[in-house]
Amino acid sequence: KLYNQVQEAKGNIRVFCRCRPLSKAEVAARHETVVDFDAAKDGELGILSGGSTKKTFKFDRFYTPKDDQVDVFADASPVVISVLDGYNVCIFAYGQTGTGKTFTMEGTEQNRGVNYRTLEELFKIAKERSETFTYSISVSVLEVYNEQIRDLLAASPTSKKLEIKQATEGFHNVPGIVEAKVENTREVWNVLQAGSSARAVGSNNVNEHSSRSHCMLCIMVKAKNLMNGECTKSNLWLVDLAGSERLAKTDLQGDRLKEAQNINRSLSALGDVISALANKSSHIPYRNSKLTHLLQDSLGGDSKTLMFVQISPSEQDLSETLSSLNFATRVR
Ligand code: ADP
Ligand code: MG
Repeated sequence: KLYNQVQEAKGNIRVFCRCRPLSKAEVAARHETVVDFDAAKDGELGILSGGSTKKTFKFDRFYTPKDDQVDVFADASPVVISVLDGYNVCIFAYGQTGTGKTFTMEGTEQNRGVNYRTLEELFKIAKERSETFTYSISVSVLEVYNEQIRDLLAASPTSKKLEIKQATEGFHNVPGIVEAKVENTREVWNVLQAGSSARAVGSNNVNEHSSRSHCMLCIMVKAKNLMNGECTKSNLWLVDLAGSERLAKTDLQGDRLKEAQNINRSLSALGDVISALANKSSHIPYRNSKLTHLLQDSLGGDSKTLMFVQISPSEQDLSETLSSLNFATRVR
């Protein structure tokens, strides 16, 4: 309800900012916290950026380290539900590696994140509406690494070269990817686990690999209105983006340099697309990266976008924090 109210006044892009707690190691090393939530109720976040300077940032919602997965999902849920009403939706987590993107989207078995809660919520609402609608829900899990798409639900994810095709106006797809039909939350959990473990295959360091690739869950909803027979098809993308940190150029060579360039390119392409949309620009540069090309139908038009900008509270991460908050400000 909240989302829809604000939305009428402000367009289709919402930005929520989430700050993780200091880690045990950071507490032990006595890191100072630079994030100030005093004005969060007024929609403002303060960042203490040295001496007495405080920079402020405006977003739609803030989550302190004390807010949990339930608090976060409570605000995301109206956006999620709109996919059942025929809207395309895109939710993504942006930020430096280690700030909680995967925690927010995937979560852990005890502390499940937005991905699982989304599907759980969709099943719940679908059931409540079962006298007037029938819904069919399927999911794909993709990874974009070095501008290549991998199907994480495929039997051998690396074997096929996958391309984005435009089937009809306003409808893009990736021919040949697995679309797993899911009918209950247990099946969902299994599919999400399968996608997650496929991510690790072929990489010698799972965490490093996942911080350099975009992990994309696409939920496809077919709805049939039993009153008038009308059918709609819509997509909800849930994206755990590659880490936004800038790596020192001098440390990078060969494959690492190529990875870093591809990440920079796709994250800037995402920023360019969203700010072009926010500025109602006549040309939206979707084709500049696989990431934005895949999301084309779910960014812009009447689709709804929610971005989590994830930050660290530590003074040590100040420059990356400022850079993430500036990125988020640009798209808002
Ligand atoms: P990223 O995906 O951005 O690299 P992770 O999600 O892996 O970051 O988070 C890094 C670490 O911080 C993990 O151990 C994670 O469990 C923890 N963490 C992140 N956000 C939170 C949070 N809001 N509450 C508790 N722990 C968190
Ligand atoms: Mg991660």
